[in-house]
Amino acid sequence: MNMMEFLRLGVDFAILRRERPYVLGLSITDICNLSCRHCRVANDRREMMSYDEVRDHLESNWRRGARVVYYEGGEPYLWRDRRRRLPELIALARQVGYLSVHVYTNGTRPINAPADFTWVSIDGPDDINLALRGVSADSVIANAAAFGGRCGIVFTVNTINCGVIEPFLQLVRTRLPARRVMFFFHTPYYGVDELCLSAEQKFGAIDTIAACKQAGLPVMNSQAGLQAMRTGDYPHPTKLYKVVDRSGDYQCCRSISQPEVCRQCGYSSCAEIMLARNFRPGAIRSILHTW
Ligand code: SF4
Ligand code: SF4
Repeated sequence: MNMMEFLRLGVDFAILRRERPYVLGLSITDICNLSCRHCRVANDRREMMSYDEVRDHLESNWRRGARVVYYEGGEPYLWRDRRRRLPELIALARQVGYLSVHVYTNGTRPINAPADFTWVSIDGPDDINLALRGVSADSVIANAAAFGGRCGIVFTVNTINCGVIEPFLQLVRTRLPARRVMFFFHTPYYGVDELCLSAEQKFGAIDTIAACKQAGLPVMNSQAGLQAMRTGDYPHPTKLYKVVDRSGDYQCCRSISQPEVCRQCGYSSCAEIMLARNFRPGAIRSILHTW
């Protein structure tokens, strides 16, 4: 981590409050070995960005102000361009000047790429993860446990798994000591479906997560961030995020043109970043834990 650049980023972000896309989500492939129930982006075009395309996106967005990049998919561990693999893209991002390089993975492959932070998606204990993602949680947890780098778990709350939040946190505490869980909430990107939480279910889940955090279970969301997910009272959509895939560039995410979706946005990381910008200590800790 280049400390001077990181401090400059903090000043621009929180003190001068410059509006620019600090965080770039780069979808390097839509190819995936899973077909999760909530997902419609996997294997849509079965495309990969080339190494040169990734470099062009990294460079052009760095010039526009991006300093943190998230490699996402599809499954980033399946990315390849001739002999190059994900570790070469991580090195490339650092070479361009990114201060923190993250990877989102479904965790079905051995996790070994040297990202600054790796997010592993697991949506519940074994049978629940199997029903939602088509893979046993046990094998993914084993891969996360074998990984020596910094990582956290992403759990997206929906109608199927909202009742297993506490047992899942107990499982993580036992099997993945020192790892924490960031809770997202199912977002109706493709319209209201059977996974969408009612307001009552969502508030109940937030209360459960908040109580688990209070009790010392490994929750990464801040208490303020959880309450923001309840009220929706934080600035969003935002110009601080940008997503790029082979179909184009999107401010915040691909749903920017759908205000109804944004009103029900379950992307908790966005709330944490906006609260950190307003100097909420819990949100700052949550962000610094991963950056
Ligand atoms: S792992 Fe990710 S990209 Fe693959 S199907 Fe699931 S949600 Fe979609
Ligand atoms: S749903 Fe809206 S607010 Fe949420 S990430 Fe997408 S564009 Fe941003």
